[in-house]
Amino acid sequence: RIAYVNGQFVRHGEAVVHIEDRGYQLADAVYEVWALFGGKLADAEGHFARLERSLSELRIPMPMSRQALTIVLREAVRRNRVSEGLLYLQVGRGVAPRGHAFPDQPTAPSVVITVSAVDRTAAEAKAAKGVKVITTPEDRWGRCDIKTVGLLPNALAKQAAKEQGAAEAWFVDELGLVTEGASSNAWIIDGDGVVRTRDTNANILRGVTRHTLLDVLHDEGLKFEERPFTPDEAVAAKEAFITGAGSLVLPVIAVNNRPVGDGKVGPVAMKLRRLYIERAKATAV
Ligand code: PLP
Repeated sequence: RIAYVNGQFVRHGEAVVHIEDRGYQLADAVYEVWALFGGKLADAEGHFARLERSLSELRIPMPMSRQALTIVLREAVRRNRVSEGLLYLQVGRGVAPRGHAFPDQPTAPSVVITVSAVDRTAAEAKAAKGVKVITTPEDRWGRCDIKTVGLLPNALAKQAAKEQGAAEAWFVDELGLVTEGASSNAWIIDGDGVVRTRDTNANILRGVTRHTLLDVLHDEGLKFEERPFTPDEAVAAKEAFITGAGSLVLPVIAVNNRPVGDGKVGPVAMKLRRLYIERAKATAV
């Protein structure tokens, strides 16, 4: 495997960053993950737009133009000879003697890229079986709209899920409403057949997959609503699923070991998975 670190392609096992990289010490860095279909970047525009927004919220400059970055991302994919996979890009404020405030002298942003292969056959088998989720109290900071590498609450939630045989953890806010998953957005198809996901005015990440899926729902003429739901509503729903660059559209069959609907993988969720993948493939660049 080949990684990209600050201007150079190096062997993955030898790729290193400085010990005083602010991403490492302070989580002063943001990231994006693209799904790769046929070696091309899915939902490229949405991920670039969110990257630029995350960086500007933190006042970190774009390390290079979007055009130049696209060339580097493509080169990373090419050098790894990956067709089906994921591309991870991390951009941080850079290296400076440790201190909380921004360095006085502007630093060059740190840029790291890794590419990994995904077994799509295994992913389809997983989707066809559906996954379980658990719930956990929302304990993250107030800016989950910024895709920072400060993921400790997400990591702890995911570990709790894993220990309970679940694939994802849904955060639940003080009102008892699901915010989102540790690495995905949360959806249900309610008793009226309305596809529902939380609005993005709340403290959640504006999922790029979520956004594309809303376009799919619109084009298919399916009823949808951006409105939050409780774990009980998810259990009472016909179907539930999660979305993200890693999970794409993944049916959820249980919440805290309580079956969702009839406990079987939902036909609408599977159809939406197929439609999302078709669209992502057709628009990948
Ligand atoms: N919510 C969180 C907390 C995430 O980390 C992610 C990313 O994987 C998502 C939602 C889904 O976002 P996207 O569809 O852009 O991958």
